[in-house]
Amino acid sequence: MSVELSGWGRYPVAATDLLQPASAQAAAAMVAGRTGAIARGNGRAYGDAAIGEETTVSLLGLGRMRAFDPATGWLTVEAGVTLAEIVAAFLPRGFFPAVVPGTQFVTVGGMIAADVHGKNHHRDGGFGDHVAALDLMLPDGTRLSCSREQNAELFHATIGGMGLTGYILAATIRLIPVETGWIRQRTLVAETVADTVRLLDAAQDATYSVAWIDGLARGAALGRSLVYLGEHATRAALGGAQVPYRFGPAAKAGPGVPFDLPALTLNRLSVAAFNEAYFRLGAAKAGPERLVGWRPYFFPLDGVADWNRIYGRNGFVQYQFVLPAARSADLLPDLLDRIAQRGSASFLAVLKRLGRGGGLLSFPFEGHTLALDMKMEPGLLAFLAECDRLVAAAGGRLYLAKDARQTRSTFEAGYPGLARFRDIRRRYGLEGRLASRLSRRIGL
Ligand SMILES: Cc1cc2nc3c(=O)[nH]c(=O)nc-3n(C[C@H](O)[C@H](O)[C@H](O)COP(=O)(O)OP(=O)(O)OC[C@H]3O[C@@H](n4cnc5c(N)ncnc54)[C@H](O)[C@@H]3O)c2cc1C
Repeated sequence: MSVELSGWGRYPVAATDLLQPASAQAAAAMVAGRTGAIARGNGRAYGDAAIGEETTVSLLGLGRMRAFDPATGWLTVEAGVTLAEIVAAFLPRGFFPAVVPGTQFVTVGGMIAADVHGKNHHRDGGFGDHVAALDLMLPDGTRLSCSREQNAELFHATIGGMGLTGYILAATIRLIPVETGWIRQRTLVAETVADTVRLLDAAQDATYSVAWIDGLARGAALGRSLVYLGEHATRAALGGAQVPYRFGPAAKAGPGVPFDLPALTLNRLSVAAFNEAYFRLGAAKAGPERLVGWRPYFFPLDGVADWNRIYGRNGFVQYQFVLPAARSADLLPDLLDRIAQRGSASFLAVLKRLGRGGGLLSFPFEGHTLALDMKMEPGLLAFLAECDRLVAAAGGRLYLAKDARQTRSTFEAGYPGLARFRDIRRRYGLEGRLASRLSRRIGL
């Protein structure tokens, strides 16, 4: 069946054959003889990573949980199981995934393929660091067990490999014990970008840390932010109001965005007003610790259904880069100033400190990562290409799971593990067989 598909940013949209196997056996039969195919999870990558050059293979049908060992926290699940399903099943039993991204509507396959990072990357690494083993299917139907001991090079290439090493059918991942579903959150106020970086760097011992930056503030307030630090709350830390809801209050259906908002709704003034109000409200709560439920803490945007429609019919791109720690202080002010000057509407500018990298093509390395949404409009692509050059010249790189537009040269400059990755693809006969719109665009 041929369909038009996009990622979460709704840009670009491309035609592809869509296969939807209900089991690993069906997947093997369907992909046999196909070229230009790629796996797809829940479509939460922003750009074109999960759109096959010719064929897209949705693995959402592989949705069974197979085994759990409460003594170690290792959980074995099929790749189409979502993070939301894991949290719903295991948080009430006192376990939470060791690493989570900013939405729970992602699959285990998608989290491994992008080696997603959470607010604890500086301490605990990426999702891939908490994968013990995976079951990988090559495009000819061969199934391989991969781990740090078995088929190790394929294992390291698959973590962060954006689906380009094979179809992840199942994986064993780590859950950590937690006593409650609450987080003890402390908010710090940073008046400038230098303060923001300093506060994040000083918080390396905090389990979770992240800064929300006012991407439109300029001059003396450039890069002002609210820095959020978090720790899992113990049972004893709960106050009277939380005790009956040890694992967090039941989810309320959040408001949705029922149709594409007209492009005029989001403009510099409306976003500046939102950012100002958000900053003031947050700053007023700075100081003492507060208890925050796991949903608003980890997945704040999941409360607004289909929020990607807020940017209108043309969609948006998310721009996320990482800079080496030693270069951030020079370059972040320049990049933030360019972004603020352009006045691109962005509710979300998030700065995180990242730790050591994982797989061959994993995005994170020791440094600072900035992520922000930008509405697709004339001039945006040229503006971002200029930012790409600055990021690449400083030894930084762009996140493939968020990317919809970088060129081959920026990509090649940023990923030194590429030569080994290409070599592995060649040796396993994957070139041409596995290809996405992303891989074709960046020459993989
Ligand atoms: C609101 C929001 C917040 C986010 N926050 C973060 C964040 O904090 N940190 C972060 O790192 N990311 C974040 N992301 C990005 C998201 O975590 C990744 O894009 C993730 O890969 C999406 O998973 P998915 O199941 O939707 O995969 P898809 O988008 O469907 O696919 C993503 C990639 O994984 C590959 N893939 C999917 N399933 C398989 C499989 N079974 N076998 C092989 N390859 C497969 C695809 O080929 C593709 O290359 C966020 C995304 C959103 C929408």
